[in-house]
Amino acid sequence: EKINILVSACLLGLDCRYSGTGKYIAELEELKEEFQFIPVCPEQLGGLPTPRSPVEITEGRAVNKEGADCTEQFKKGAQEAGKLAGYFNCRVALLKANSPSCGFGRIYDGSFSGKLIEGNGITAELLHKKGLRIYSEKDLKDLKDLKDVKKLKDVKKLKDLKDQ
Ligand code: SF4
Repeated sequence: EKINILVSACLLGLDCRYSGTGKYIAELEELKEEFQFIPVCPEQLGGLPTPRSPVEITEGRAVNKEGADCTEQFKKGAQEAGKLAGYFNCRVALLKANSPSCGFGRIYDGSFSGKLIEGNGITAELLHKKGLRIYSEKDLKDLKDLKDVKKLKDVKKLKDLKDQ
């Protein structure tokens, strides 16, 4: 049986990024036999248009390049992604690195200068709190090692979605 994995839709080639393009990762084809991809774009699910002004996180708020606060849309998108994770019982997510929604561990610093700082995107943070194990396109090798489902056993059980 395949492992359900929530995936940032742009990594599958959907043109959902702020620029109106995708970020297709061809290596994902190799994982299709083991993983069932569940594509999700939290920023679109939160109601933002495509293309859209780029956003970075500043002091916990999601603010676009023009200075407009998009935090509510980002939170909504994170919740919707969380619903999908629950519905499909995903214990793993493959999320685009550095994004203010999907980035895990490192995100842009809010200055729109390409500088990275420690931190999590708003969706990545929510999914992590739910107990999903988060990977990015930069650690596909580790994800490949997960083909052995038994290795997933130490992942915390997903909290009941009603808790959110
Ligand atoms: Fe990709 Fe996530 Fe950004 Fe959507 S919100 S374009 S899935 S990185």
